Amino acid sequence: MPGVQLVLRSSRVVTPEGTRAASVSVADGRIVSVGPRDMPVPDGARLVDAGDDAVLPGLVDTHVHVNDPGRSEWEGFTTATRAAAAGGITTLIDMPLNSLPPTTTVAHLRTKQESARGQAHIDTGFWGGAIPGNVADLRPLHDAGVFGFKCFLSPSGVEEFPELGPAGLESALAEIAGFGGLLIVHAEDPAHLTAAPQKGGPAYADFLASRPRAAENDAIGRLIALARKLDARVHVLHLSSADALPAIAQARREGVALTVETCPHFLTLSAEEVPDGATEFKCCPPIRERANQDALWQGLAEGVLDCVVSDHSPCTAELKDGDFGTAWGGISSLQLGLPAMWTAARARGHSLDDVVRWMSSGPARLAGLGGRKGAIAPGHDADFAVLAPEETFTVDPARLHHRNPVTAYAGRTLHGVVRATWLRGERIAEAGDAGRPLRQTGRLIERPTG
Ligand SMILES: [Zn+2]
Repeated sequence: MPGVQLVLRSSRVVTPEGTRAASVSVADGRIVSVGPRDMPVPDGARLVDAGDDAVLPGLVDTHVHVNDPGRSEWEGFTTATRAAAAGGITTLIDMPLNSLPPTTTVAHLRTKQESARGQAHIDTGFWGGAIPGNVADLRPLHDAGVFGFKCFLSPSGVEEFPELGPAGLESALAEIAGFGGLLIVHAEDPAHLTAAPQKGGPAYADFLASRPRAAENDAIGRLIALARKLDARVHVLHLSSADALPAIAQARREGVALTVETCPHFLTLSAEEVPDGATEFKCCPPIRERANQDALWQGLAEGVLDCVVSDHSPCTAELKDGDFGTAWGGISSLQLGLPAMWTAARARGHSLDDVVRWMSSGPARLAGLGGRKGAIAPGHDADFAVLAPEETFTVDPARLHHRNPVTAYAGRTLHGVVRATWLRGERIAEAGDAGRPLRQTGRLIERPTG
């Protein structure tokens, strides 16, 4: 085959048709064929034999808070994308808040793109934000290439990104539906949060009681009704309450254009195991009980949940200190999401194909990148995560590339060592490269049109 520069082979290549022994041929950064493992290597092509390590399509993480510029001491494009590369992720979409400015106008988007330029180890795109008063900015942002729009229904935690009230939500969604865009929502109903006891303090049970399941369930119910009324596409971010699954499944059966994600921490950590005072486990909505986690796994298995993404939302170590009332809410897991998920998935009898569906092809489809990312198939970008699935390691925060290596996973033994990550046919990370400068060849990407 003329033009092939790289052949990557393994006994376990995860393709849309299943996992099999194969050789993947790459030309100009794209996959040109997936052939038999023993196929001849074309003249001039480099052969990389991954042996029995699994070759996955690079992961796509559509929920990452990079916080750069403005709060780059929390995280930044270089550190976030390097951690992501080390964790097998090859594409991330940055959330519109926690950076300054937030991504709520085209000018702000340009500021963020300038901040990211030349820094990214992996392909990086941007969500826009829908806040009170910026309805007129939504279409220009859409035209400028954001992947969709995030909004909150309850306070976001930062004053420059206020939540939408009922009227604001409806006008934003009507506008977005008018140009065929996507609204992604932090779905907690503020009335339930206000009514719940807000004790603060070190007890995890008190924190859990302050963010009740009803807040999520009712917010999702409102979103379903509005999506149906406006014939709009809505995506529910970081679902924690499994009680909402039946209503979600029913709405989807009825044809409502609703998609839903959950996160590794909801699927791998449980309220019962959070020590009092352990604010590294604080996030909103919160990590709930084991029985809730079992129901989320069932939702994944049944296809009611579309994807699993990190909601990597770091801050400085100081801001993560304090008690459950005062500490910043957010869990950092860019580098650990794949092994954390694989460890729990294999224990529940799931395959790597399932993990790829939840963490690569599912999020790629959500972002409209399905033809380019998220699959080892001809025509797709040659983005790969090479994983040793049976190997284990113990999480050492000092080995994380996150700017603030605070992690709820510290000390856990996980299955799945990421041996190497490839972006468009180029190796961008490999095990043991800590401290070594690596090329920052990630591109700033836009929502595909047409
Ligand atoms: Zn988030």
